[in-house]
Amino acid sequence: MLEINKVSVLGAGVLGTQIAFQTAYSGLPVVVYDVSDEALAKSEAHMTELAQLYKQDGVVGADDGRTDAAFTRLSFTTDLAGAASEADLVIEAVPELLDVKRRLYTDLAKAAPGHTIFATNSSTLLPSDLKEFTGRPDRFLAIHYANLIWKRNLVEIMGTADTDPAVVAAAVSFAETTGMIPIEIKKEQAGYILNSLGVPFLFAAGKLWASGVADPKTIDRAWKIGSLAPQGPFEALDIIGLTTTYNIASNSEDPGVREFAAALKEQYIDEGKLGTMTGEGFYKY
Ligand code: NAD
Repeated sequence: MLEINKVSVLGAGVLGTQIAFQTAYSGLPVVVYDVSDEALAKSEAHMTELAQLYKQDGVVGADDGRTDAAFTRLSFTTDLAGAASEADLVIEAVPELLDVKRRLYTDLAKAAPGHTIFATNSSTLLPSDLKEFTGRPDRFLAIHYANLIWKRNLVEIMGTADTDPAVVAAAVSFAETTGMIPIEIKKEQAGYILNSLGVPFLFAAGKLWASGVADPKTIDRAWKIGSLAPQGPFEALDIIGLTTTYNIASNSEDPGVREFAAALKEQYIDEGKLGTMTGEGFYKY
């Protein structure tokens, strides 16, 4: 079995912060890399909130010290070479933009040792869209987390035809040792299982809003009452983050979804309302 003892997370945004914290909480040292000092500072501050949420949501007892210990295993840097030099596994969680990811993998391929496994957390891209930039297609795959990973602890693991089965096995084992439930995807599928089902649903809600059928709160209310779901689509979008939503929606082939993206930008993103991370999105937190 390939050993994964040291982890680096690239991109200290919504998901990178959660992945880094959960991994450190599970006992592994984690280096968090971002291009922005400001993002790293926000990420570290957000981890203090995560520690509270772990207690509130019953992941840990109130005083077992495990969340405090997590902080001793975390370090933060804007130096990619330093972040990659000792990693057994690098998990990439940078913006959902093909060019940004391809450029990063090109640099990472030079900076990381040959044995390092690379994993993308991309929600909608295929690992095959990125593999040639990694310099190690056999050691590259997707490890896809669901937002709020400490309670929605699903991990979808998806290789390409080139991924070494031993690397898939190592990813499954890593997921299990870090408190996740791994699901292996047999064949590459944009959106895996979760987003293949969820994204069309969220965009359908976005189109209802952007085309003037109903406002977000009404749509959420109708969905929750009518389906017994605990959460409405706009509550979910606030948790996902409106920037990530915009990046995906603005690339859609569906003009109605692009209309939703434009409304999102004008009415929320340009106003600094990016979802729960910034304290306001469709709702105030
Ligand atoms: P985000 O916008 O919250 O964070 C991205 C971070 O990457 C930012 O801190 C940014 O400064 C940083 N960054 C930008 N360019 C970089 C570079 N070249 N190198 C290092 N850091 C860089 O995004 P997010 O919502 O955390 O999404 C990140 C990835 O995770 C995307 O691929 C997304 O599809 C995926 N994902 C998101 C969710 C979600 O619900 N938000 C769920 C599962 C997977």
